[in-house]
Amino acid sequence: MKQQTFGHGGPKVSVIGQGTWYIDRGNRKLAVEALRRGIDLGMTHIDTAEMYGDAELVIAEAIEGRRDDLFLVSKVLPGNASRRGTIAACERSLKRLKTDRLDCYLLHWRGSYPLGDTVAAFDELKRAGKIRSWGVSNFDTDDLDEMLEVAGEDSIACNQVLYHLRQRAIEHAVIPWCAQHGVAVVAYSPFGHDDFPSPRSDAGKVLQKIAEAHKATPRQIALAFLTREATVFAIPKASAAEHATENAAAGDLVLESGEIAALDTAFRRGARSQGLPML
Ligand code: NAP
Repeated sequence: MKQQTFGHGGPKVSVIGQGTWYIDRGNRKLAVEALRRGIDLGMTHIDTAEMYGDAELVIAEAIEGRRDDLFLVSKVLPGNASRRGTIAACERSLKRLKTDRLDCYLLHWRGSYPLGDTVAAFDELKRAGKIRSWGVSNFDTDDLDEMLEVAGEDSIACNQVLYHLRQRAIEHAVIPWCAQHGVAVVAYSPFGHDDFPSPRSDAGKVLQKIAEAHKATPRQIALAFLTREATVFAIPKASAAEHATENAAAGDLVLESGEIAALDTAFRRGARSQGLPML
């Protein structure tokens, strides 16, 4: 599994990680198995959030005895992101995850609390050793500009944003902004949540052909395409161990420039839209 530097001066983190939204909804034993399989295969970047129901409890079970191998991320809801609320939310997540620290803690999306209050809480959590770094999610470039004014250069570890083959809006300005400021981009819903391109569609056929050339699957090619820039990570969610196995193998796939160009044409980036799309 390829690893990349996570934000300015950050640690090396697996380029493909594991999402956990809805992982608590099905068979939990199988979900724990899937997460463990993923960790065994190098997908040590695990993403969760206080919003994801019991996902943090499922993760706690999966990571028992393996905490030091992981890059563990959780998120505070905007409605809790006051100075005191952020600290309380982080402590609740730590308790549910049965750990004493997060590797990165994110503001899930922008809400009404001033960014300065949330940043003050993040800084306090860092000083207390409860988080190693912090970042944001669903931030467009104007929000990022504002956060930079508040927190200063080299303080935002990542921006977690919607990015999949049929939703490439972040390529217009968010990815370049993040590359310029040393902020890691984490692609969420890399398979379109539940809407992966059909192999019968024209674009799906292009994907299929490239997959065959690599003896890979279309999903693996999608992950390799999305993480083709050295600043971008992806966090597919899998609650089946065989899915985790498939996703982990994408971490070593490298596409040729002609293949990237073919995917770029098949899955058009489209014009820059007003506002950042999010789920
Ligand atoms: P996703 O990862 O795009 O897709 C998940 C779906 O793909 C599940 O139905 C899963 O099935 C299936 N899948 C995974 N691997 C597969 C494989 N190899 N073959 C076939 N099917 C496969 O969707 P997502 O959960 O929305 O996004 C990923 C993560 O990003 C989330 O879990 C969450 O951690 C994060 N996220 C963050 C935000 C935010 O606002 N920051 C928003 C959305 C998501 P099984 O579960 O049955 O394996």
